Amino acid sequence: MNASVRSQDHPAPEFERAASAGQHRDRTQVQKGPGSFDVEAVRAQVPILARRIHGKPLVYLDNAATTQKPQAVLAALDGYYRGYNANVHRGVHLLSAEATRAHEQARESVRRFLNAPAAREIIFVRGTTEAVNLVAQGFARPRLKPDDEILITAMEHHSNLVPWQMVCAQTGARLKAVPFSDAGVLDLGAFDALLGERTRLVALGHASNALGTIHPVAEIVRRAHARGVPVFVDGAQGAPHLLADVEALGCDFYAFSGHKVFGPTGIGALWVRGSLLEAMQPWQGGGDMIRTVTLEACTWNEIPYRFEAGTPDIAGAIGLAAALDWLSAFEPEAVRAHEARLLAYATHRLGALAGVTLVGTAPEKVGVLSFTVEGVHPHDVGTVLDREGVAIRTGHHCAQPVMERFGIPATARASFALYNTLAEIDALTAAVEQAQQVFRRV
Ligand code: PMP
Repeated sequence: MNASVRSQDHPAPEFERAASAGQHRDRTQVQKGPGSFDVEAVRAQVPILARRIHGKPLVYLDNAATTQKPQAVLAALDGYYRGYNANVHRGVHLLSAEATRAHEQARESVRRFLNAPAAREIIFVRGTTEAVNLVAQGFARPRLKPDDEILITAMEHHSNLVPWQMVCAQTGARLKAVPFSDAGVLDLGAFDALLGERTRLVALGHASNALGTIHPVAEIVRRAHARGVPVFVDGAQGAPHLLADVEALGCDFYAFSGHKVFGPTGIGALWVRGSLLEAMQPWQGGGDMIRTVTLEACTWNEIPYRFEAGTPDIAGAIGLAAALDWLSAFEPEAVRAHEARLLAYATHRLGALAGVTLVGTAPEKVGVLSFTVEGVHPHDVGTVLDREGVAIRTGHHCAQPVMERFGIPATARASFALYNTLAEIDALTAAVEQAQQVFRRV
């Protein structure tokens, strides 16, 4: 946890101050003023990037699946378990008070990261998947009537599709999906046509994990709100690229996963507009989410605790806060410019290879490059690349309807983060050429 997020009244424990001091030294190396971005200094803060894979330097280009962790996150996790491990909320002893304070300060870090109005509107969850299920069961299920509609896009990750299918099956509601173009751009005309009298919720990704497309969320929210329809945003691929600003987007729900924003696995966050959250039903019962319990009945705790049954992932929340504070310390414009440079260069290099087809060429994209190689199965591309130390993902990327739309079973996907370099894209390109040679010979 970063000491700078603590209030004066609650100084950080000694061991944390030491870890945070180290973190600050690192930060000054990468913050040289607006616009500048020292990628080597960033890399030096992420220990795993020094690994070798099959004797080659690791080229980690699977960031849309999960990101690597900076030292600041590792130190925060270690600091919690070594220094103040205790359960939260229930203890009168000092360790429990420290753990509770750090957990609540982590909530405040998430609030700041999302530019949300209040920390009490932030719910800790396991990740984006759990957040969608929570909204489907806690918000949609009690409200949906037969023939009501939920509007999603045809580009969603299964996480932002299957929970809506389930709640539709439970309530008799229907799921509609907005189609997209060959480039991977949503058809806003179709969106307008599908946004109807019966639409009760719009749910869409901020950016597509399969194609990289950044959706015009603010515009979609404007159109949905004009008809009184709330909007859920799956921010799993938006948050890592510093696009998550709930005030600017105007949405009503925003979810993201810690492990995709350089934090730990098993933790994520959901922001819900306070007025909606107050009216939502808890979806899991247990300790901490209640105020009073008798053998017959109970009353709910206040928000957000009403939605956090049982012992939370305390270390995860603290690690997530460290990740968000780490990420937020960079100049956002410099990070976005660096990532845009990586995407443009990779698009240029791979796009120039004969036999390589880029899948998803929308004008607005995060650093995700899906492609196919003529005559080589994506899985074989991935295997050859791995031998060269280049980690990418191959498959349907949990977006089978997207693959179906393009009539392909799978793609190879390289995805970039702020610590990637142009030299790594050269390594990717050389490895793809090598895969082509290997399979041409067969
Ligand atoms: N939505 C999108 C767009 C994603 O990319 C992912 C992860 N690939 C998810 C949802 C699910 O995230 P998690 O598995 O962390 O819950």
